[in-house]
Amino acid sequence: MNISKTIQIEDIQARPGEKKIGYLKIGETPLSDITLPIGIVNGLEQGPTLCIIAGSHACEYAGIDAAIRIFRQTNPKELKGSLIIVPVVNTPGFQTRTPYVNPIDNLNISFIFPGDEKGSISHRIAHILLKKVVSKANYLLNLHGGDLPELLTPFTIIEESGRDDIDAISEKLARMFNVKYILKLKSDRPTLEREAGKLGIPAVVSEAGSLGTFDETDIKVHVTGTINVMKHLKMLNDTPNVTVEPEVIIDGYKINATKGGLFYPKVKAGKTVLDGEVLGEIKDIKGDLVERIVALKGGVVLYMFFRHVVNTGDPLFSIGIIER
Ligand SMILES: [Zn+2]
Repeated sequence: MNISKTIQIEDIQARPGEKKIGYLKIGETPLSDITLPIGIVNGLEQGPTLCIIAGSHACEYAGIDAAIRIFRQTNPKELKGSLIIVPVVNTPGFQTRTPYVNPIDNLNISFIFPGDEKGSISHRIAHILLKKVVSKANYLLNLHGGDLPELLTPFTIIEESGRDDIDAISEKLARMFNVKYILKLKSDRPTLEREAGKLGIPAVVSEAGSLGTFDETDIKVHVTGTINVMKHLKMLNDTPNVTVEPEVIIDGYKINATKGGLFYPKVKAGKTVLDGEVLGEIKDIKGDLVERIVALKGGVVLYMFFRHVVNTGDPLFSIGIIER
């Protein structure tokens, strides 16, 4: 047996066979430190390092619960390699139950990578997460879900990194989640996954969970997907249990309200819709129909904004177009 090495992130240290949790300091408020919780499960035997993060969007609880559960249930004596787990990235938003952004600087941490060590708190979280945590790993899983107003059908996302070999591995990992859809993005969004790809670290975003809930079904999507990834990477004995052949989504579009009023959706997330199909209606305060929302092209409702009151320009639906 090849014994693994001690893993050290600042003053958090886990020797082979140990499980540790600690806190990385990000900055300060007038009254307290702002920290990032870091769990390390260091397997006895050598193997890859898998980084699992959640709570970049702090109300996406299914992913947060899954990360906590994976930390608790993984036995370092049975693990080859190591897990580095950050159950909550946006810690200020977590404490205040704030959707999408960090309430300290109102930034969405998911879209400001690589961050800035001299910037505001969100920029510092992004910088420290990338430089001190993710860069130590060989693979990255970023657990997300529908944020507070979002109803979502489970899917995974992989972003083109500019390296075909890395993207192919990311897609293999994404296929371990047993969800019906993989979204392949060609965007140049400033995400952690793109930065990881540049470092040669394959990365997957898993999306499961809706509306601030923490349903067992959604938590299990993240947990079983992650365990399948660990089995696929030979970090655990046993072969992955892959039961779903996902459809690939290569394009999509969003539908926003053009009128204000009360929104009455006619479909739920996960519904396959046809070109021109009515997805919902907006009625004014008198109850008169002011806008009929129709699909501009056939596809699947990946997620929708389940808010009854809408203003002009508010997002309503995100539709994925399936590769045929
Ligand atoms: Zn999210």
